[in-house]
Formats: sequence, structure tokens, C-alpha cells
Amino acid sequence: MSWSPSPSWIQRWFPERWKEIAGNAAMIQVWLNFLANGPCNALFTGPNRSGKTRTISLGIRAMVCTSRTPTFDPCGQCASCKAVPEGRAPHNGIFAALSGSEYSFHPIDCENVTVEELEALQYDGALDSDKVIVYLDEVGALRRRRLEGKLLKLIDEAPAIWIASAITLRRTQGKRKGEWTERLSKEMRARFPIKVGTALPHPDDLYQWIVARTQEWNITILEEEVTVPAMIERTTRRVGYLIHMFTAAATTIERTISSEDVARFNLDSAD
Ligand SMILES: [Zn+2]
Repeated sequence: MSWSPSPSWIQRWFPERWKEIAGNAAMIQVWLNFLANGPCNALFTGPNRSGKTRTISLGIRAMVCTSRTPTFDPCGQCASCKAVPEGRAPHNGIFAALSGSEYSFHPIDCENVTVEELEALQYDGALDSDKVIVYLDEVGALRRRRLEGKLLKLIDEAPAIWIASAITLRRTQGKRKGEWTERLSKEMRARFPIKVGTALPHPDDLYQWIVARTQEWNITILEEEVTVPAMIERTTRRVGYLIHMFTAAATTIERTISSEDVARFNLDSAD
């Protein structure tokens, strides 16, 4: 009677409870504090596949949920939880008011947002409350697109709460070669009183996390005591890559992962 989620379901998996996140303890603590005492502007940084988006997404879902659990997990049942399933869909205006959410939510995809859209947000008064959360996904893109100045002004003038994510990349040349950097301006960084980076999970915690997912997703790891450590090492402890491995396993008839699969796995290591 075990349930076998499809490959695409696993690929799109988002945690529904804080305990389903591996590592990232400092980021989780920021959200738990926000949920207990109210949020402020915060910048979340980290390399690709290190769990930034999934952690922010859970935080936003918990903020807009109207009946959070005692451990600050979103309930998954209320109108707001249903409206913001992955923390990506907007939740504002009349709909947010009807659902009874304390907070409303505007996601901004900084790779694609237009000047007109930023101006509309500014002038229609949508950001005139500290019960409005704006999520700037990949805020570094604004600098490249020469929109950063426009947004700095908006962040200063609008009372909304600004939550930003920025990818960190390893420098490949120059004096600071090998260092991780966000490619944000000093001015942008200065708008965020809280800046927190992702942190890789401890291998022991990640081992438990992998085993928990295999049970939940009906996937078998062959020679677990050899294969799980190989998975942890090969993915450099990044959950996003582990999810790719689980997704690929779910496409096979037996739904298995072997140490050979792990060695052969094609990782898109962008950094
Ligand atoms: Zn809810």
C-alpha cells in the first residue's frame, strides 16, 4: 500500500515541515523568529541547489498560513496554504483579505520583472504596509539588468517587508579567486538587516534525511551503507542534487539507486 510519487512530483518536491529541511539551521531560525515576532528585510544567499528557495518558500507559506501548527509549520489545508502551494504564487489584494491571512505576498522574479511591473507595484499602493511580503527571487539579476537603482528606491520608500535570495558563485579569477561572492552592490546589501547564508547539512543528518525520503517516496537504495555515503560525497551535500538523483531513480522500473548509478550521475555543476 505504499505510495510511489512520480518522477516529476519528486523533481518539484517542496518541504512541508521545517524538519524536512536538511541543514540550513541558521536560515530556519530566521524564519522561526519571524513567525514568532514578525519579519524584517532579510537576504538569503547560497550556491545553487543548496536549499535557499525551498527554505524561503516554506517560510512564506508559514507566514501566510492562517492556522500554523505549534511548531510553525504551515497547516497545508487553509485557503492561503492552498493558494501558495510552493511559495511562488502571489497572494494579495482581495483574495488575501478574504482568506484571513495576516500577510499578503508578492513574488518578483528578478530575471524577468519589467520596469512597468515595478512601477505598478510602487504606485498602486500594494506595498504600503508592513504586512506585505515581497520576495525578490535572485535579486542579483537586477544589477545586471540595470534595474537595481529603481528597486533601491522602492525598498527605501515602501513599508513592505523585503525578502531576497541571491546566488553565490565561486570567483574563478583575480585576487579573490576561490571565494564565494553574491554580485550584489553594497547599496543593495545595506537594505537587509539580516543576511544569512545556506549551510550544508552534517553528513549524519543528511544520511537520515536520505533514508527518510527513500521511505516516503518508495525508492530503494542498494547496498545502503556504501551507496548513501557515496551519494552524500558525490552531491557535495547539496539537497537539490540529491533530489535529482531521487527523480532519476523514480524513472526506473525498480525505483532503485546503486553505487554505480551514483558514480555515473550527471551533475550540472555550475560553480
Ligand atoms: Zn494553512
